[in-house]
Amino acid sequence: MKLVTVGSVAFDAIESPFGKTDKIVGGAGTFITLAASFFLKEQGIISVVGEDFPQQTLLNLKSKGIDIQGIQIKVGEKTFFWSGRYHNDMNSRDTLLTELNVLEHFNPLVPDDFQGADYLMLGNLSPQVQKMVIERMKNRPKLIAMDTMNFWMDIALDDLKKTMSLVDLLIINDEEARQLSGTYSLVKAAKIIRLMGPKIVIIKKGEHGALLFHEENMFYAPALPLEEVFDPTGAGDTFAGGFMGYIAASNDYSFENMKRAIIAGSALASFCVEKFGTQRLLEISKEELNLRIDKFVALANFEMKEVY
Ligand code: AMP
Repeated sequence: MKLVTVGSVAFDAIESPFGKTDKIVGGAGTFITLAASFFLKEQGIISVVGEDFPQQTLLNLKSKGIDIQGIQIKVGEKTFFWSGRYHNDMNSRDTLLTELNVLEHFNPLVPDDFQGADYLMLGNLSPQVQKMVIERMKNRPKLIAMDTMNFWMDIALDDLKKTMSLVDLLIINDEEARQLSGTYSLVKAAKIIRLMGPKIVIIKKGEHGALLFHEENMFYAPALPLEEVFDPTGAGDTFAGGFMGYIAASNDYSFENMKRAIIAGSALASFCVEKFGTQRLLEISKEELNLRIDKFVALANFEMKEVY
């Protein structure tokens, strides 16, 4: 198995200027693995759900080559629930509710079949749980990537810093990078974050693309300008899943390949926002993804001419 992900498998309720959903399936782990499945025939997920979680959804993940033996089902308990409301610009949101439920005492178990994975993706989750997964991998993966959010910076900063010191790559959004580093400039923020452990930092800027800081190198990828953004929930996780799926499938984490992986992740994220929840990721084909990747390449591709 090339890629193992730990992350929430959840219920979300979303409010946006386009409408409102009841409880729908979400969770960082769900978006990450669905995105990575466009590049990997086989991968593993570690998570926990309650008795209320639909079995069919787990089977749908399985049908995409996602090994679900690492998802614990807690009888008599409720699945993690998150609810958020987007502002009119669709780029910022408020968390309305976070009910940890089964995530509160989550003891992540790494199935034997997942041992020896070369790539590990720590989805947005309690930093203590993320650290436990690293410690429970018998061999250190070649590349450990970590996502996090302001929620954990507010309530578990010390644990977050401990986990960060163990990872190679941190993927966060611009607001979170500023909060974590205490500085506004993203170039400075990346420098400060790199001193905390991860040699590589990716800063997601929503509709303004993503920045990659890799040792002394820097790369910027735009987001695809879309006419309509319907629901940005999970776009960041989808980006991370597409990125790690591409890296794991090509087994290459050089700076050059990370540039390609960023485009792969950005293309998948551009689909994710077109409908509520995971709906769009479940309906698109690899061909549609490839066409969108071509659009990304064309978007920033030009030849400079010298004029006098
Ligand atoms: P994103 O829009 O990429 O930041 O991710 C949204 C997803 O993250 C939603 O589907 C939520 O279920 C999940 N999520 C939100 N808050 C948390 C949290 N504190 N821990 C784990 N997962 C979360």
